[in-house]
Amino acid sequence: MSDTSVIEISEGAVADNLSFLQKQFGSGVRISSVVKANAYGHGVETFVPIAERAGVDHFSVFSACEARELLNIVSSGTRLMITGWMNDEDLKWAVENEIEFFVFDPERLKRLISLSEKCRKPARIHIEMETGMNRTGMHLNELKEAAGIILNNPSCFVLKGLCTHLAGAESIANHVRIQKQLSRYVKLCKWFSDRGLVPRYRHVSSSAAAMTYPSARFNMVRIGILQYGYWPSAETFIHFISKKKEKNDPLKRVIGWKSQVMAIKKVKRGEFVSYGTVYLAQEDKTTAIVPVGYSYGYSRSLSNQGRVLINGQRVAVIGMVNMNMLIIDVTKIPDVKKGDEVVLIGNQGDLTISVASFSEFSNQLNYELLTRLPKGTPRTVVD
Ligand SMILES: *Cc1c(COP(=O)(O)O)cnc(C)c1O
Repeated sequence: MSDTSVIEISEGAVADNLSFLQKQFGSGVRISSVVKANAYGHGVETFVPIAERAGVDHFSVFSACEARELLNIVSSGTRLMITGWMNDEDLKWAVENEIEFFVFDPERLKRLISLSEKCRKPARIHIEMETGMNRTGMHLNELKEAAGIILNNPSCFVLKGLCTHLAGAESIANHVRIQKQLSRYVKLCKWFSDRGLVPRYRHVSSSAAAMTYPSARFNMVRIGILQYGYWPSAETFIHFISKKKEKNDPLKRVIGWKSQVMAIKKVKRGEFVSYGTVYLAQEDKTTAIVPVGYSYGYSRSLSNQGRVLINGQRVAVIGMVNMNMLIIDVTKIPDVKKGDEVVLIGNQGDLTISVASFSEFSNQLNYELLTRLPKGTPRTVVD
């Protein structure tokens, strides 16, 4: 049985992106490859081995469930880090399996003392500090308590990291806030080291900060979107490119998404196409039906808006995107046949459909569209 669409992952693009990033950050900065949300829709089972072959040996995920899945995929020397959700039962599993994780309340450290003794292994912790994002992260009074617990139980903990998360480094509008966060972070790190608590890693940066604020790299960066070939925002890209002679984008898109024509239709002038009255044929039309809809991650907001590639040309999505199908206007394309390749994202001939081109409204769209690509769609590796 063949699926209605296929996602292609380019191994060469991943390797090029990671080597560009490592060069950019310098060899003293370890990259933790962020593969939450099914590797931003690229598919962990497909993406992670490719990233490992490109030299990555540290991965970050949001939840313990994601870490559990990853543990079956990675090779033995590779480290995993949970930056978000785990329940108390997951804690024991994480300690046993030497998974690193963020800690953002002192209660958790207390619980870890007995767990660590039971497992006869230390907990590998990253202390998350509140510096201005006001999300997770411990305030100073909690950090004092945490430091006390760690100092009193040295065999129960390995202090893998002191970390925080920056609140929007992808936009210059947040510059002052980011600078404040960075200076608070540095002060808090000093407070810890004054008490003899020196972490293996200091990390605050996701993609945007790692590119825009070199002083925010410390000795680890948590890189998600860049490694997949996308800039976190247009501003981040412009900031980067403005300092370069070469004005080419050094990143390569990793993902391609393809389907095919399942049926071809003639539509008479004056008829509506698909549900409702969203699209009226102003002239006689030839349309092609493609077996991809919003349940496959092709958003309904692309109704009458999307573009796809077919036979080397760019054509429009017309009418509503359905749950399982969309309709394209192929009136101007000669010899369209059932089975012809339809590119939803990626290249065909000289043309490209980029994820960003889906909308210029929001720089979050890259992230959102990618992470909505369903797990069930097959991924294949290409050069
Ligand atoms: C998702 C996430 C990142 C990666 O963000 P990108 O913008 O994709 O690089 C880094 N750190 C944390 C804590 C995250 O949740």
